Amino acid sequence: AVPLPAFGFDNSYARDLPGFYVDWQAAEAPAPRLLRLNHALAAELGLDPAALEPVAAGVFSGNLLPTGAHPLAQVYAGHQFGGFSPQLGDGRALLLGEVIDRNGARRDIQLKGSGRTPFSRSGDGKAAIGPVLREYLIGEAMHALGVPTTRALAAVTTGQSILRDTGPLPGAVLTRVAASHIRVGTFQYFAARGEVAKLRQLADYSMARHYPALEQGDYLGFFRAVAGAQARLVAQWMGLGFIHGVMNTDNVAISGETIDYGPCAFMEAYAPGTVFSSIDSGGRYAYANQPLLLGWNMARFAEALLPLLDADEDRAVALATEALGDLMPAYESAWLAVMRAKLGLAGEDAGDAALAQGLLAAMDGQAADWTLTFRRLATAVGGDAGLLRPLFADATALDDWLPRWRARLAPGAGQAMNAVNPACIPRNHRVEEALAAAQHGDMGPFETLLSVLATPFTDQPGREGYALPAPAGFGRYRTFC
Ligand code: AMP
Ligand code: MG
Ligand code: MG
Repeated sequence: AVPLPAFGFDNSYARDLPGFYVDWQAAEAPAPRLLRLNHALAAELGLDPAALEPVAAGVFSGNLLPTGAHPLAQVYAGHQFGGFSPQLGDGRALLLGEVIDRNGARRDIQLKGSGRTPFSRSGDGKAAIGPVLREYLIGEAMHALGVPTTRALAAVTTGQSILRDTGPLPGAVLTRVAASHIRVGTFQYFAARGEVAKLRQLADYSMARHYPALEQGDYLGFFRAVAGAQARLVAQWMGLGFIHGVMNTDNVAISGETIDYGPCAFMEAYAPGTVFSSIDSGGRYAYANQPLLLGWNMARFAEALLPLLDADEDRAVALATEALGDLMPAYESAWLAVMRAKLGLAGEDAGDAALAQGLLAAMDGQAADWTLTFRRLATAVGGDAGLLRPLFADATALDDWLPRWRARLAPGAGQAMNAVNPACIPRNHRVEEALAAAQHGDMGPFETLLSVLATPFTDQPGREGYALPAPAGFGRYRTFC
């Protein structure tokens, strides 16, 4: 047998939080095969990619357990589409352990799709190749776009077919790296059971791990820190046209990272009500609703933390209400900072929010591609809007807006704008094309797309097609989880 490389695990969750998980093992994968190993991320985690490669199929299917791993399924609850499920938990995932990366940061290594656990309910505990590679691709794209996110370390196929609505599909496992997998739903689980000592233990652990500058016992400060991180995160999503698709409280990470890439996708033509997810029939998680859901999710988080905020319930509610009242202004200011950078504005002016809203109003209903509009805005700095105008079905409102915008531009705005407005995002048709090919054994399109998305802010000669939206024939895009 090939020796397994040392991972250097230091499993604080397993050690410090008994009762917050169950020890568990991955299901045996009959014929694991490595689809992709993220060499750069492996190196960042202190692993030698060359030593890892020969054993990667075994390790990242869950068949081979590296020394020091402590595989476990975490328990959590969550509001799913507004309804509370008191017990969810890792139904198809296993935390292998934690490593301290080269920058001194603690990172979870988790298998997703590794078989049933005591929390699986009716699910099969498995994942199909398509969603695994989708999470790989979009997580890596988000990372390159500068968004806090979980990342993909590896993808393997298991050699087993799994059954989905559409028929049998190749089973796969994603290995995911996260600052942690602690969610709003983790707090909700213990709060709903009235287990206040455990709630406090979880808060203490989370604060030490993610917000070490906070004083011990400053649970209001903890709430504010998480809410602030989430506000900045959602502002970044909005700036990129990213639609998460399932902003359930079990998919909201305390660390402030984007987590659980299911039916997510990037908006092309700007339309505030854009929804891609096939299960989001009511449009709860539509593009323009995301800031509202941020507020809703943080209200659920504040509720869960109430017993820690003050021994007196009325006083606790007053503190939580005040902190929640600061959330939307914090979001608005994070959004404005994102938009000022996207628009290349000089300094700050009281009219900037209205200016940004003015562009959105000019885009609305004009089929203007979100990403290309902002990217090409940089070409219109000098006065020639020749590349920008054709993106709009009717550019009349844009023409009115442009002079107002030019009056606010910072010197050298064009270059600065190109550093924040991507040329390339994961275009829906390209993602589908890459996943379809991978399902048929051809990883070529996936590799090319991944490489395009690794440098999203550069125009890539010969790959201009990757910057374009789906052709009209692609139709309305729907995603499945
Ligand atoms: P998600 O929608 O992926 O965020 O998952 C919500 C909950 O359903 C979590 O508890 C998951 O572990 C669980 N789950 C999702 N898919 C499966 C599956 N195929 N088998 C078992 N549990 C699942
Ligand atoms: Mg989830
Ligand atoms: Mg999921």
